[in-house]
Formats: sequence, structure tokens, C-alpha cells
Amino acid sequence: MDRTRMPVVFVGHGSPMNAIEDNAWSRTWKELGRTLPRPECILAISAHWMTRGQKIRNASDNRQIYDMYGFPQELYDVEYAPAGEPIVAKQVKELLSSEAAFDDSWGIDHGIWSVLVSMFPQADVPVVMMSTDLAADPRELYRRGTALRSLREAGVLILASGNVVHNLALVDYSMEHGGFPWAHEFDAFIKDAILRNDTDSVVDYRSLNHASRQAVRTPEHFYPLLYALGASDSTDEVEVWNEDLCLGALSMTSYTFG
Ligand code: ZN
Repeated sequence: MDRTRMPVVFVGHGSPMNAIEDNAWSRTWKELGRTLPRPECILAISAHWMTRGQKIRNASDNRQIYDMYGFPQELYDVEYAPAGEPIVAKQVKELLSSEAAFDDSWGIDHGIWSVLVSMFPQADVPVVMMSTDLAADPRELYRRGTALRSLREAGVLILASGNVVHNLALVDYSMEHGGFPWAHEFDAFIKDAILRNDTDSVVDYRSLNHASRQAVRTPEHFYPLLYALGASDSTDEVEVWNEDLCLGALSMTSYTFG
């Protein structure tokens, strides 16, 4: 039986406030929810679940985690707790083989729910959470993405959430829009590489692009892109959206492969 092959999405999530603000970025998330083929399940790879070793949540529910501090109460009132999907979690673990382990200590964090609350507001698509493994190198994370490709034929939307450029130490709150020159440079370097289908340049970002030292000061927001890239292949059309920088040191640039 033929099924729609699901796309792969990398989303730049930016500030948690995007969960409750009606802005150009959150409107695009809403639009995507209406235009994407409806998934049977979402495999959500979050920059905010940082682990040593690859972890997958396999509980049948998703505890919501408010892993952000100092925001207005309105943000902590957002409720988003879709069901889990242990069958898909098991498939993910098998596809990743020995690198992966089940771990239910985490839940659905703001890197994921701040986006899904716009994309699938009914919370009626099950979500399997997957961590960003900080102990693995970029090439290995890309390889894990390739191992997940077959899930796309099974109706699973692979949604990786991070930011191509993310340096909280250099965020400038007076710059609501736009980025520093190094932020623009790195965002463009990654976009050009992706559009050329030049995976190696993305994987080897650190040695190939000087601006990466500031743009990817810590890797957790960049790494979800590597899983997403691995789960895509050269037959996918690439769509770039929310191509934007804000607060000087954050990129919202997002990609759909499919
Ligand atoms: Zn984040």
C-alpha cells in the first residue's frame, strides 16, 4: 500500500515567546500545519534534550517540560501534551541499533512544544521525543539521520528543532531584527551548502567556516540540523523558510526536505 512519503523539517525555534506571539515565524508554523501531509506520528529531535548517548522517549504519554526561566506567566500556561507512540519509539531504537537507549526521564520541552502548539494546535498527533547527543561527532549525527529515512515511508514526520545560529552570550535585545555579520555569514554558508546538496560542508562546518566559532558557540542548537539532513536525500526538494535573523545572534532559518 502506497503512503505519502513524509517530508523532513528542520525548524529554527528561537525565543520560547514564539509559542504565544503572533508573528511572521509562528504564522509560518501554522501554515505548515495546514499544508504538510498529515503525519501519523512526529519524531521530534530537540536541541533542549541534551544527552551523552542517544536517548529516545518511549512512554505512551509526553510530560510537558517548561524548561525556560523568567518569561511571562502566559507562557507557562500553555498546555501541550500529545500522546507518545511506543511502537514508533521501538522502530527508531532498532534503526539506530546499539547507539540508542530508551529514556523517559525527559518530556516534551519548549524547543518542540513552542513550535507544535502552532503547527498542530490540537495536540492530536503523537510525538516521540529524541535527544540531541552531544557525545557524538557531527558525521555520526548525520549518519543516524540516514538510518531514520525509512520512517518517512511509515507516515512519520521527522521534525528537528534548533537554530542554525545560536549564541545566547552575544544576543543583543536591542536588535529585534537582523543579525551580526558573522551570524549572516554562517547562516548563508549553511544555506548555500544545503541548496548545493553539499552535505560534507555542513558536517565539516567547524573547519570550513570561520564564523562558526561565534554562530555555533555551543553545538546543541545546530546538531538537530545534522539529523534532519541525514534523513533527507538528494531526491528531496529543499524549501527554505523563515529565513531571518534576530537579536543579533539567532537565526530562524528553517528547511523542509521533501
Ligand atoms: Zn532553543
